[in-house]
Amino acid sequence: MNKIVDYCPPAGGVAQAPIPLRTEQGAQLSENFARAQQLGQIGWWRLDTRRNVLTWSDENYRIFGKRPGEPQTYQTFLETVHPEDRDLVHERWSAALRGANYDIEHRILAGGEVKWVREKAILEFDPDGALLGGFGITQDITERKAVEHALKWNVRRNELLTKTAARLLEASDVQGVVDELCSEVMSFLECDVFFNFLAEEGGQRLRLNACAGISEAAAAEIEWLDFGVAVCGCVARDRERIIVRDISCHEDERTTLIRSYGIEAYCCHPLTSQGRLIGTLSFGAKSRPSFTAEEVEVMQAVSNLVSMAMARLKMEQVLRDADRRKDVFLATLAHELRNPLAPIRSGLEILRIRGGYGPGAQRIGDIMARQVDHIVRLVDDLMEVSRIRSGKITLRLERVDLTAVVRQAVEASQQLLDANGVTVTVAESGEPLFVEGDRVRLAQVVGNLLNNAVKYTEAGGRVDIAALRSGDWATVSVSDTGVGIPKDMLPRVFDLFAQVDRSLGRAQGGLGIGLALVRNLVALHGGDVEAQSEGPGRGSRFVVRLPLAQQAAPESASASGAPATEPRARRVLVIDDNADAAVSMSMLLETMGLDTRVAGDGARGVEMFEEFGPELVFLDLGMPGMDGFETARRLRATPHGQAATIVALTGWGGEDTRARTREAGFDLHLTKPASLEDVGKVLSFGRAC
Ligand code: ADP
Repeated sequence: MNKIVDYCPPAGGVAQAPIPLRTEQGAQLSENFARAQQLGQIGWWRLDTRRNVLTWSDENYRIFGKRPGEPQTYQTFLETVHPEDRDLVHERWSAALRGANYDIEHRILAGGEVKWVREKAILEFDPDGALLGGFGITQDITERKAVEHALKWNVRRNELLTKTAARLLEASDVQGVVDELCSEVMSFLECDVFFNFLAEEGGQRLRLNACAGISEAAAAEIEWLDFGVAVCGCVARDRERIIVRDISCHEDERTTLIRSYGIEAYCCHPLTSQGRLIGTLSFGAKSRPSFTAEEVEVMQAVSNLVSMAMARLKMEQVLRDADRRKDVFLATLAHELRNPLAPIRSGLEILRIRGGYGPGAQRIGDIMARQVDHIVRLVDDLMEVSRIRSGKITLRLERVDLTAVVRQAVEASQQLLDANGVTVTVAESGEPLFVEGDRVRLAQVVGNLLNNAVKYTEAGGRVDIAALRSGDWATVSVSDTGVGIPKDMLPRVFDLFAQVDRSLGRAQGGLGIGLALVRNLVALHGGDVEAQSEGPGRGSRFVVRLPLAQQAAPESASASGAPATEPRARRVLVIDDNADAAVSMSMLLETMGLDTRVAGDGARGVEMFEEFGPELVFLDLGMPGMDGFETARRLRATPHGQAATIVALTGWGGEDTRARTREAGFDLHLTKPASLEDVGKVLSFGRAC
C-alpha cells in the first residue's frame, strides 16, 4: 500500500506551505503555536529533499537537545537517532519517499540522554506535482515510554514472583528448584551470575548450593566459604544485605572474588528464618554499574520466598524425623513388652494345666489370664502400627468365603460377647461369598469391628452382623445399639490414634489403632469401609465392601484351619537368652508331657541340639553373640538338623522378619508370648507336612 495516509494533495497539485504571519494577530498566533508545541512536546520539521535542508521548529531543537538555529540536514538528523534504531528509521523514511506511511517511534540521543520520539510526516509537492520533500512532527514520548516500560516490568515481575512462590510452595526439593528459579530471576533482572550458599549446620561456613554464570572449575573453588570471607561470607556473618556498585572502580578486599569474575554490580541477601541463618542468595551484573531500587526489591522478595520454602522443608524434615522416631519407639516398646509377657503367659498356663491356680485363687488367676490376653492384644496392635506406617503389610491371597470368615470371627468373639451381655445376630446370604483375600487379615477386619461393637455397647444391647451380596460386591455390616458416633467424627474414626471423646464411655480401653488397621486392610483388598451413625446414643454401623472373586470355587483346603492333632514331637529344645521366657516355656512344654531342654545362647544351643537330638526347637532371634538366624543355619548343617522342626519364637512378627526366618530355614514363626493354642499347633506340625 504505497499511499500517504495523512497527505491529501490539494486539487491542482498546490503544495501546503506555512501561512505567512505578518500581522500583530499573526504574531500572537505564532506565539500561541510555539507554546502549544512546548506544552505538547511536539515540534515540527520540514525536509527539502532537493537541497537537503532540514528546518526545525524551536521545540524540535529542544527535543533533539540542539542549539536553536543550528543548520540541519537529513544526515545530522540520522546521527542523532539511536544507533540501534538508525537503520530502521532510514528504511522507513526511504519507504515514505516512495509513498509509504511514515509514523514511527524510535530512540534518539539528545545531549547524551536517550529519549523516545514519535515521528509522523507527509510529503510535499510543487504545483507541477514534483516532490519537494516532507513535512512532519516530532513528539517527545520519553515519559510515556517510561510508564509503559514500568507497567510491563511490573506485570512481568508479578508473574515471576507468583510463579516463584507457587513453585517453591509445592516443591519437595527446594534446593533443587532454586537452581532453575534463580536462573529465571537472573534473566529477568538481566544479571550474569547468581550464587546460592547454604549455611553449614552449627558451623561457620557456607556451602555452594546452586550458581550460574561461572565455570564449573570456578564453582568448585568456592564450594566452601568461611563466614566473613567475600561479600557472601560477610552477609552470612552479619545477616545483613550488601549492595555493591561500580566494583571495578573500587579496591575492597570483600569484592576481590566477584571482581575476578568481571562483576560490576552485586547484591547479596541473607536467607533467614526466625532469626536463624539458612544461607545467602546473590545476583550480579557485568555490563552495568548498579541495580535499580526496583531490581533490589525483586531480589529481596525472591530471597524471602526461598527462605520461607527452605524453612518449611526443614520443619517438615524435623516432623518426619520425629514421626519416624515415634514409630521406631512404638515398635521397640511393643517388642520389649513381648519378652516379659512370654513367661507371664506361660506361667499362668502352667498353673492352669497343673490343676488350677490353687485354693481361692481361681478367680484371680482367670482375671490375670484375661488381662494378659488384653495386654497381648494391645501390644499386637502397637506392632501393627509400625507395619501400617511403613506399608509392610502384605497379603497372602487365596479364595476365601467371607461368610465363613464372619462365622469364625463371631465364634472367636463369643466369650467376649457373652461376658458383656450383648446379643448377636448373624444374617447370611445363603450362598458363599467368595473373595480373593487373606483369610487371617479378613478375620482381623471382622474381629476388630465386632470387638468394637461389643466394647461400645452397654450390657443388654444388640449387635447385628450381615454378610450379603450386593451386585459384584460382598458386604459385611456390623451394627450395634451402643454409644454411637457424633457426625463430625464419622470420617475421622479411621485415622490412626483417633478416638471419640472418652466421656461417651468406653467399656475397655484401646489405642485407636483398630479402625485404621481395618481401613488399611480393606483397601489392600480393593474394598472400602464406611462408618454410619445417627449420633451419640443412637448406635453405629460399619459397612465393609469387598469385590467378589470372578468365579465361585470351592475353598482351599487350608480354609478349614486343620485342627491340632496329637503332638508329633517328643523331645524339645528351647534356645533363648531371656532365662525367664526360656524356663517358663520349657515348664509349659513339660506340663504337656514333653522332654525339654533349655539353652541360654546360640552356641550352647547348637551343642545341646547335637547331644540331645530334639525333634522340635523353639529358637529366639535376638540373642547376643550368635543370633537366631545364624543358630538356625548351624542347626540345619548338623546331621540331625534337616529332620528337626525349627520354630522362631520372637518379639518380631513383621512380614520382613518372617521372610528372613523362612529364608534362614525356619519351619514356623511364632510371636511372643505364644499362646497354648499356638504351641499346640506347632507340636502337631511335622517336617513331613
Ligand atoms: P479403639 O477402640 O482402640 O479406641 P479403634 O480404632 O478401634 O480404636 O476405634 C477408634 C474410635 O472409634 C474409638 O475410640 C471409638 O471412639 C470409635 N468407635 C469405634 N467403633 C465404635 C462403635 N462400634 N461404636 C461407637 N464408637 C466406635
